Amino acid sequence: MCAELGLHVVLYDAKRSVGRKFLVAGKGGLNLTNAEPKETFSEKYSGKSPAFWHGILDEFSAQELRRWAADLGCETFEAKSGRVYLKDLKAAPLLRRWVLKLKEAGVEFRMQHRLLDIIPGPPFRLLFENGTQANSDAVVLALGGASWPDTGSDGLWGVFLKKLGLKISPLAPANCGWEHDWAPEVLTAAEGKPLKNIRVIAGNKSSAGELLLTHYGLEGGPLYALGHSLRAMEHPSISIDLKPAHSIEQLVAKMESARKNFADEARLRWKLSDAAHALLAGRNCPDAVSLAHEAKNVVIPFKGPRPIAEAISTAGGLCWEELTDDLMVKKHPGLFLAGEMIDWEAPTGGYLLQVCFSTGTIAAHSACKYLKERREG
Ligand SMILES: Cc1cc2nc3c(=O)[nH]c(=O)nc-3n(C[C@H](O)[C@H](O)[C@H](O)COP(=O)(O)OP(=O)(O)OC[C@H]3O[C@@H](n4cnc5c(N)ncnc54)[C@H](O)[C@@H]3O)c2cc1C
Repeated sequence: MCAELGLHVVLYDAKRSVGRKFLVAGKGGLNLTNAEPKETFSEKYSGKSPAFWHGILDEFSAQELRRWAADLGCETFEAKSGRVYLKDLKAAPLLRRWVLKLKEAGVEFRMQHRLLDIIPGPPFRLLFENGTQANSDAVVLALGGASWPDTGSDGLWGVFLKKLGLKISPLAPANCGWEHDWAPEVLTAAEGKPLKNIRVIAGNKSSAGELLLTHYGLEGGPLYALGHSLRAMEHPSISIDLKPAHSIEQLVAKMESARKNFADEARLRWKLSDAAHALLAGRNCPDAVSLAHEAKNVVIPFKGPRPIAEAISTAGGLCWEELTDDLMVKKHPGLFLAGEMIDWEAPTGGYLLQVCFSTGTIAAHSACKYLKERREG
């Protein structure tokens, strides 16, 4: 939009090509956004109130994102879960056409320009690792979080933003696995196996779904959804309800004639998966009642989250108090931010890319408005 208004737009990126994380995100089928109503959509984000997020999503909604992709020849579809995917599932054609459209609009692409410092302006002076410098009347930073650093987003921008006097809340892994030391017999029986149809509780939050038991601990949607609560705990742990559709009384009733080997009996009578059975077998419950209590409350303490480099996204970033509602840095008018650099987080499900697009749209609109007002004096 800035280029369309006749502004000279230059896009700098540290890597040889743009959109590397976008391509990684597309590997298992690009989940572009979600068809959930805006009221509940806006509740998925941390850092600000749902009303604030509602406003952000209003600037570039899920429908607008789908229309934008369709205009570039990439239709989307809504899965039963509400997740919205590209019809051919691949991110590469969309990225290719997007870059082409920007180039046609006059946007200049300068790759292998890793930004090392910004001297405040306007004009802002940008200093790059390759020794080049550039002046710009307005700057939009969308440098990502710190996960998957090979894609270019390494979070090292914190160094120069702090030099500009800006407050940054520490970057932390979000949407990631959590580490637990399993007993060898649990790993032998259940490594790589799922815990399906479970309810996971962390603090006063809970999430239903499926977890995967891995050599390092657990991975999966419910943990991604509970990451914010887990990170807030001094000693992070979850409680798993392996049988959320059954009460303790119902589970005990199914074990009526069982007299020994309760975990093995429960495997058949409660239809326990291999992983669920492995968790209960290690607990040595002496009777059906204690096993039923255990099945409804398998407590797993965690050593911590997996490293940020492996996470799907990043929590933390530039603190909201540094930004106007137009996403301009209050202390440095003319400098704008978008995407994962800002201090918010959301679960998987298309919520991440959606807000990157929405905040990107707002930052670009605001930069255009700012430059127009400066020109008009
Ligand atoms: C495995 C995986 C799967 C995912 N799947 C999904 C999904 O299906 N749906 C979804 O909504 N989200 C998904 N995400 C998350 C989503 O990809 C990110 O939230 C989103 O890409 C963040 O966008 P961004 O523009 O903030 O940053 P990024 O996409 O990380 O882009 C930042 C850019 O800035 C450049 N850069 C960084 N530092 C500098 C510097 N100093 N100088 C110059 N350039 C720099 C980088 O090279 C990079 O090109 C996934 C993420 C991963 C890792």
